[in-house]
Parts: sequence; structure tokens; C-alpha cells
Amino acid sequence: MAVNSQTLIFFMLISMAGCGVSSWAIPLPPELSDKLHSDAEAIKAASTDYGHIISVKPSAVLFPSSVDDIKTLISFSFRSNSTPYTVAAKGNAHSVWGQAMAAGGVVVDMLSLNKNANGSRIVICGDEGSGFYADVGGEQLWIDLLNATLKHGLSPVSWTDYLYATVGGTLSNAGISGQTHRRGPEISNVEELDVVTGKGDLVTCSPQQNPDLFYGVLGGLGQFGVITRARIVLEPAKKRVKWLRILYNDFAVFTKDQESLIAVTGKNAPDYLEGQLLMDPNTNLEFFPPADRPKIISLIKQYGIIYFIEVGKYYDGSNNTVDEELKQMLKNVISFIPGCIFMADVTYLDFLNRVHPDELALREKGLWDVPHPWLNLFVPKSRIIDFDNGVFKDILLKNNFTTSLVLFYPMFRDKWDLRMSAVIPDEDVFYAAGFLDSSRFDNWEVYDKKNKEILLFCASNGIKVKQYLGHHGSKQEWIEHFGSKWNTFQQRKFQFDPKFLLSPGQKIFN
Ligand SMILES: Cc1cc2nc3c(=O)[nH]c(=O)nc-3n(C[C@H](O)[C@H](O)[C@H](O)COP(=O)(O)OP(=O)(O)OC[C@H]3O[C@@H](n4cnc5c(N)ncnc54)[C@H](O)[C@@H]3O)c2cc1C
Repeated sequence: MAVNSQTLIFFMLISMAGCGVSSWAIPLPPELSDKLHSDAEAIKAASTDYGHIISVKPSAVLFPSSVDDIKTLISFSFRSNSTPYTVAAKGNAHSVWGQAMAAGGVVVDMLSLNKNANGSRIVICGDEGSGFYADVGGEQLWIDLLNATLKHGLSPVSWTDYLYATVGGTLSNAGISGQTHRRGPEISNVEELDVVTGKGDLVTCSPQQNPDLFYGVLGGLGQFGVITRARIVLEPAKKRVKWLRILYNDFAVFTKDQESLIAVTGKNAPDYLEGQLLMDPNTNLEFFPPADRPKIISLIKQYGIIYFIEVGKYYDGSNNTVDEELKQMLKNVISFIPGCIFMADVTYLDFLNRVHPDELALREKGLWDVPHPWLNLFVPKSRIIDFDNGVFKDILLKNNFTTSLVLFYPMFRDKWDLRMSAVIPDEDVFYAAGFLDSSRFDNWEVYDKKNKEILLFCASNGIKVKQYLGHHGSKQEWIEHFGSKWNTFQQRKFQFDPKFLLSPGQKIFN
């Protein structure tokens, strides 16, 4: 369309009449003009994530200095009579499929809230009688929460393996790790939230107050509101951790032992339990003593896959009963490879923050900001043997995907609150399977194809897996993902974000 000067003046007048800041591609709230940025640097950061696969550009990025700024941004769009813009909260952008992006909309750089708060957005409260908790800004990193609580001798109880994600980002998914079998996911350890809904209202919610919003937001993939505060359960922190890895060449025994160990209760129970696969003689052996590595390498060569259980047992430095407790706990394992039990003794902080040294090493080698074609699944217990045969031994091993980091560990369904949005298999015990590949920029499709093959194998063999942190190609696939939860999920969307403004990068309603 040819634009003459009269048309331009007309549009400028319309803008100045209150539709928004005239210099933006879309109308935006004028009162936020100094906090909204559209320079190349801001746009680039908001169109990149840990996946390095998807890149879509927003029109602008909001750097909020208060929760009110987020309210203003969302209510302006909600009340807009013309086309509203979408809004994506971006935590630390550790998603892998563009979930924190907003094509043509506005990305909210949540970390910016913290920069203006001088540490005041982590408040630790409670006492021994009523229990301890922390009121934490949704933008806070779990590592910062851990450091803050440890100063009081306290700690959250449930974690992810990696602590440089935000509280809002992980609570939008679930937050799982080796503590989940015992304490539930992170979302099971939240008492209250403050949320800015898709209508721009700031609402406090809990199981007693606005429960639909509370349960919707937890595991809700950012669809119902922006979490600006979460009340996280704390308990007295232990000081050290006995950290074990126990090796197996037989999948059935490996998983049987995992299940026996998570069934232990009381003082002999593991505080943390995961599992991994070793398939490559040159990968992932750093934990093991150098003198033992040749033996492990020859086992990998002999069996193709070595599985290991990873156990963490917390203790106080002064507690000399921990070795006895470990001994009792290990009575529950049947037959690992003789001599193949390895132990480290580390501080509680170093244990929980164990992925960070790997991150620093990868960053130094320029291998952190590379594509991450990840696949995470929940696999029902009844089909894990089929999964091992079809996925680990067939798709991975035969096609030489041996350097992949693969996690496999069990958890209990009853530690999850089914009223929340997170989706899990319909069995009492299910396993988390993580295929955490890094690739080059020119070959991530190879890994993506392998992941699709895994999904196809599960679908064609009736293995009812659920994706975790996943992405789906169509609304129909999302409906299948949510299954019996879809109607509630959709109703909550109509209720709390009726204009479908929030977290469009999940591609559920947008
Ligand atoms: C190295 C690594 C290890 C990991 N390990 C684990 C693990 O062990 N267990 C596990 O469960 N996950 C793990 N993850 C995944 C991680 O928990 C999720 O990707 C999480 O979303 C990252 O948080 P973030 O702050 O980077 O969120 P982002 O990627 O920024 O956002 C994720 C989604 O949440 C929305 N969102 C962000 N902040 C808010 C908010 N305040 N309110 C509402 N919605 C919001 C976004 O719009 C987006 O849709 C890992 C990721 C990495 C990179």
C-alpha cells in the first residue's frame, strides 16, 4: 500500500490519542516506554534459548522493575480493542523448543525484576512449630534460593538437576530430580503463589484461595499467568552427602534395584535416586576413580550398555550413623557388578549444584551454546523392559547414539497432585527418561529424527509415554497429551487468559 504523508499523520495522531507508544510496531503501554526495548541485542536475547533450534522475534522486550509493570503490560493488551499482543515470561530461557518466546509479541525478561530488588525478593519465614518456607520471586534462580536458605541452615526439599533455572520456569513444568520419588516434584512443595493472570489481575492463590488458578499454574506451561511469587517449603538442611554410583549390566536387575531402593522408608531411605546409561568408553566417566576407569571401559565394550544407579544420602558432618544407614539401605539391592560401587563424599551445596562445573567446562570449550535436541519422557513401569529393548538397545545402540547423556529413574505417582496441570502416566510407578543430547548447528536434525523414532516406537507398540518439557506439532497432539485433563486445562485457559495472550511459544492455543 502506498503511504502518503496524510496517512502517516493520521496514524501518528491515532497513536498519540492513547493507543500506545507510537515508535513500536504494535501499540504498547506508553507508561512502560523506558522499560520496553526493541534494540537488536534485546530482541536477539529474547529469540534464543538453550535449545538453539527455534528462533522467533518479539516486537519488544519488557525489562520490568516491579510486578506492576507486568500487570500494566498484560492488562493493556487484554483491554486492547484492536489486536492484542502476546506475552511470554522468559525466565532463564533454558527451554529447548522456544517455549519462552513470543513471535511479534512481548517477552518479559523476568530476571530484570531481581536487578532492582537488592535481594529483597527472597524472604525466609516460619519456625519449627509451623514449618519453614521462603517467599521467592518467580524470577529467582534456584541456586540463589539455595544459597539464601543455607545461610539460615534451611533448604528446599525438591529440586531439578540443574539450579540455574528460575522458580517460575520450573514450576511451570514440574521440576523433577532424584528427590522426586520421595518428596514429589517441585510443584508438590509450593504452598502459595502470586500470579498476574492473562487479564492483568494480580491474584494470590493456594489450595484454599483461588485453587483453580493455583492448580492450573503449577505445571501449567505458563498458560494461566505469570508467577511473580512462590511460597516454597523448606526444611533444616543437611551438611554433606554420600554420593554413590552402582553399576549393572542387566536392565531388569538395575530397575528392580532402583524400585527396591525408592521403596525404603525411614532413616535408611535414599534422599536422592536417579540412574543413567554408559554406552561410550570416552564419555561421562569423570565421577569414577581414574584407577577404576579401565575396568568400566572394558565393561562398556563387553556389554554395550552399562546402567548405573545414582544415590544420594544426606547427613550432618557430625553424624556417624550414616555409614550404617547406607549399609542397611544397600541390603535392598540384589546384584550389581561385583566391585562396581563407587562413592564420593561432598558438601550438600556441591551435590545439589553438581551440574554447574560441567556447565563451566562446556562454556570454556564453547560447547554450551550449541543446539540441544532434547527429549524427555515419562514411561509407565509396566513397559520399561520393552522400552529398554526397543529404545536403548535398538534405536540408540544400533544406530550408534552412544555419546548421548541418557537418564532413567523411577518415581511414584502418589507424590504428584493430580489436580495440578502437569501430566504423568496412569501407573503407580513411572520412569523419567531423558535423552539430553548436544549437537552441532548442522546436525541437530539427526538427533531430532532419532527422538521422533523413539516416539514412533512407543506409539506403535502401545507404550503410553508422556512427554515432559515437550513440544507438540498440533493442537490435537496437545489434546492427546493432556488426555482426561484437557477439558479442565482448556476451561482454565478461558477463565484466566481468555484472549490467549500468555506463553504462546508453547503452541497450545496459539
Ligand atoms: C542443563 C539443564 C538441566 C535441566 N535439568 C532439569 C531437571 O533435572 N529437571 C527438570 O524438571 N527440568 C530440568 N531442566 C529443564 C528446566 O527445568 C526447564 O527448561 C525450565 O523451564 C527452565 O527454567 P527457565 O527459568 O529457564 O524457564 P524458561 O525457559 O525461561 O521458560 C519456560 C516456560 O515457562 C514460562 N515461564 C517462565 N517464567 C515464568 C513465570 N515466572 N511464570 C509463568 N510462566 C513462566 C515461559 O513462558 C516458558 O513457557 C533442565 C534444563 C537445562 C538447560
